[in-house]
Amino acid sequence: MPNPNPVQAENPWSGALVEWKAHPTWMGRLAKWLEPRLPADARTGLAAQSTTIDAIDDPAWVDRVCAVVGQDAKQLTENLAAAIEDALIVAYHGCRPVDAGVFHAEGIKCNDPVILAEHARSLVADVPGLALLRPQIEARLAAFDDRDRDTGQVYLMADDRLLPNGCGHYLLYGSEWLQVLLGWEAHAALRTYGAPTIIEVHLPLSTIAPETRKELAWYLLREWSRQIVARDDLVPEFDFSFVLRRDIPPEWIAGHTHPSAITDPFYSKIVRQNPFQTCPHCDDPVLTGSLV
Ligand SMILES: [Zn+2]
Repeated sequence: MPNPNPVQAENPWSGALVEWKAHPTWMGRLAKWLEPRLPADARTGLAAQSTTIDAIDDPAWVDRVCAVVGQDAKQLTENLAAAIEDALIVAYHGCRPVDAGVFHAEGIKCNDPVILAEHARSLVADVPGLALLRPQIEARLAAFDDRDRDTGQVYLMADDRLLPNGCGHYLLYGSEWLQVLLGWEAHAALRTYGAPTIIEVHLPLSTIAPETRKELAWYLLREWSRQIVARDDLVPEFDFSFVLRRDIPPEWIAGHTHPSAITDPFYSKIVRQNPFQTCPHCDDPVLTGSLV
């Protein structure tokens, strides 16, 4: 009996968990997905082309795949974007909670200025280094022009290496909303509260915006082409973000870590050692955490 849906049945991306920096999770799948579209010797031909493209991020790597497949970049990217819709990607969220267990229990909530304002009030009330802000906090909240800067959004990154080494301010100081509200004079105190944390999320690619999925597909094609030709062990850092306009449910939370060192983008990129490499959930995962 013929398979009623052969395309879906043969999709090598179905149910796959893809991680950018772990090439074995996707390089082979992309090769398998490309196989029916390639002439018999195309992959060999692709690898045999001269390595005149030097830059890792040169768009010409995608052109090279397109040339052997016989599709333009737009067409090939759209086809791949449709195929990877059935996959999940490992993505990361940088933050500074007291107990990361709250994310395991509740997921990651969208940016909500009402909740953030309450968090700011409790921080200013409880953290000794923020005592000078106590007489001002209500006035600051009332006059906060950037109150809705990220409302209803959650940010994730595709490469966790960039969190301690490029976007360290989320780990050192918490949300940008809080940083902008409290200002630079709060920095030293914020570094004493909570633990720098990287939350690992297994994100279904069906839930991200179609345009973002196309962009991701293009980058997968570019790096695959470069790897086939260069055959090196390099795993380039991937500066790629997902902006979700929905809460992340707890079942998508796969784990969390606390990095040992963080580069501070606000202070000449000095490297700060992290004295908070554990949290209540690390100490006892049965605890789900009640502190943000
Ligand atoms: Zn922890």
